Amino acid sequence: MAAPLAERLRPQTLDDYIGQKHLVGPDAVLRKMIDSGRISSFILWGPPGVGKTTLAQIIAHRLETPFYTLSAVTSGVKDVREVIEKARNNRFFTQASPILFIDEIHRLSPVVEEILYPALEDFKLDIMIGEGPAARSIKIDLPHFTLVGATTRAGSLTKPLQDRFGIRAQLQYYSPEDLTTIVLRSMHLLNMPADKGAAGEIARRSRGTPRIAN
Ligand code: ADP
Repeated sequence: MAAPLAERLRPQTLDDYIGQKHLVGPDAVLRKMIDSGRISSFILWGPPGVGKTTLAQIIAHRLETPFYTLSAVTSGVKDVREVIEKARNNRFFTQASPILFIDEIHRLSPVVEEILYPALEDFKLDIMIGEGPAARSIKIDLPHFTLVGATTRAGSLTKPLQDRFGIRAQLQYYSPEDLTTIVLRSMHLLNMPADKGAAGEIARRSRGTPRIAN
């Protein structure tokens, strides 16, 4: 079955990722980190549809590292544990440390934050085994992983969470020129004839946002 439209149009490489040059252009902060091959946990901050998820996926692809995603809105403790366990079980197949991408990270529940801190700091996961009075907590080792948090509201992140990220990368709205390039690329991918005039019209009506343009 063909991939959903949004996935087909999503750029896979930094070369296809238009704009945001202050982050991914030559000598920009994220670019340097990506080129060095060693990334630390970071925040992608910007309005909906400006390319946070896309950029995180491109980085994972470029570093050939597994990519796991969680939504802070719908994920509970169980989901976080499951995804971390999955990463742990898969580590035998890959050397690279996985990226855990959490969307809308400012909406994480406090209990989930509580599990994430030790996981981020000493790569241990606390799990409870048994029930009732016999229950006890054990720590299991995790693979090193990089947390990438996406947020539309960086100011709403709790202080402890903010402190755990090295870089806070702010994505900006796109210029009409960049959006025109994005629309022309999408036309090409959809086997439509390139129409610069139409692409420019769409770009101007897209409120600086690739998701709207597409
Ligand atoms: P966010 O995570 O910020 O809500 P997404 O990464 O899901 O936004 O981007 C929405 C869509 O916009 C993607 O599917 C992709 O097709 C397109 N897009 C986003 N950023 C870019 C970009 N820099 N260049 C080209 N297309 C982009």
